[in-house]
Amino acid sequence: MPRKQKPYSEMQKSLEFESKNAWKDLDEVKVDEFSKEYIDFMSRGKTERIFSEEAINLLEKNGYKPVEDANYKNEVKAYYLYRGKALAIYKIPKKFNGGLNIIASHIDSPRIDFKPKPIYEDSNITLAKTHYYGGIKKYQWFNIPLAIIGVVVKSDGSVVKVNVGNDPKDPVFVISDLLPHLDRNENKKVSDITGEMLNLIIGSKPLTFEKIEDPLKLNILKILNEKYGITEEDLSSAELEIVPSFEPRQIGFDRSMIGAYGHDDKICAFASLKALIDSPKVSRPTVILFFDKEEIGSYGSTGASHQFWMLPLKKILKAKGIDLEVTFDEIIEDTAVLSSDVNAALDPTFKDVFEANNSAFLGKGVVVTKYTGARGKAGSSDADAEFVAKIRKVFNDNNVVWQIGELGKVDVGGGGTIALFFAEYGMHVVDVGPALLGMHSPFEIVSKADLYQTYLAYLAFIKDYV
Ligand code: MN
Ligand code: MN
Repeated sequence: MPRKQKPYSEMQKSLEFESKNAWKDLDEVKVDEFSKEYIDFMSRGKTERIFSEEAINLLEKNGYKPVEDANYKNEVKAYYLYRGKALAIYKIPKKFNGGLNIIASHIDSPRIDFKPKPIYEDSNITLAKTHYYGGIKKYQWFNIPLAIIGVVVKSDGSVVKVNVGNDPKDPVFVISDLLPHLDRNENKKVSDITGEMLNLIIGSKPLTFEKIEDPLKLNILKILNEKYGITEEDLSSAELEIVPSFEPRQIGFDRSMIGAYGHDDKICAFASLKALIDSPKVSRPTVILFFDKEEIGSYGSTGASHQFWMLPLKKILKAKGIDLEVTFDEIIEDTAVLSSDVNAALDPTFKDVFEANNSAFLGKGVVVTKYTGARGKAGSSDADAEFVAKIRKVFNDNNVVWQIGELGKVDVGGGGTIALFFAEYGMHVVDVGPALLGMHSPFEIVSKADLYQTYLAYLAFIKDYV
């Protein structure tokens, strides 16, 4: 008698790369609690400086100390804020050997910045000149309520914090668009919008009716001087970021998604922060990193092209009696990094730019992106197959729902992450994060289940990767 063949459905399950739904087997109460906490965090943490402050608040509540105050003898739980805009968090066990586990994300997001000499008046309106930061579709920033968040540093070194428009009681700011009745001529199409059209309305009242030059501008300068003690020259040493003033919200009748400004890439930062705090044990010394400047190429001292976290780590290791001359390079070479960044979810309205077999989908779990780059993978670190295999084993062993994803069709566009800045040191690195719809817009969309699977993925990595 011939042997009975297994049903094809079983065979399919064992042979095919199964596409799973991220909601399956999830505890929805936990997912909602986690989402609520994320929404609350993101309602304030819209800029890299505020995000870092909020993260430090949470860390201190959970026993983390500034690196210089940490107890180096036993397990080290410490953080290091670098120039106000980048953060390293260390959890170093009492004893260890081998490399580190790192989860690294970026906490800057595409936005609009003030120019250094911004304020002017024109046609009875006071405006601010701006310069956009990162890849934005400029038309998306017209006629939405905006907040101004950042710092002005006076020449005596004192730092003045500015945060207007985020509190519901605050006024907001706006960039006005042309009415449809008058935009039928040349040069007024969406694609013709230029950076110099992003002029922010900040006032419309004169200081006096006397005949003086720029009475409207002077009124705003007077208000700024009274409120912050600053002058126009002080704005030349400022970092004032224009971001959406609205809060993150749940999306859909089923409340299955979250819309927010800055998911890219604060969602990964938040998930990794929570994963570290919630991990009772780490399999290896663990470092969580939040970088600035990713959206403009990671240049700048607070960006990933400068590994600011290594110096404090060396101090910690030295205090623990480790001979750095002998071992630091070995530790780094054996280090595993999740470059935790978002990918694009296949958008059903714009299918033609995606290749469905290798695209990430909303609600199908955390995305492992082996390579990014443009054209022939140019500019990508392209993770080693050996490393990707180890990562997917950790995820599978921990029942993490994950998917594989490319960023759009070949030759259609492309992008990059901070992965290559770790590869440069010989660290193993791959991109892992959730997929978004409407990435780089003022209101990006993520599935709550994907957010949670990202958190579970990072938990698994911290707990099990060796
Ligand atoms: Mn990103
Ligand atoms: Mn981005």
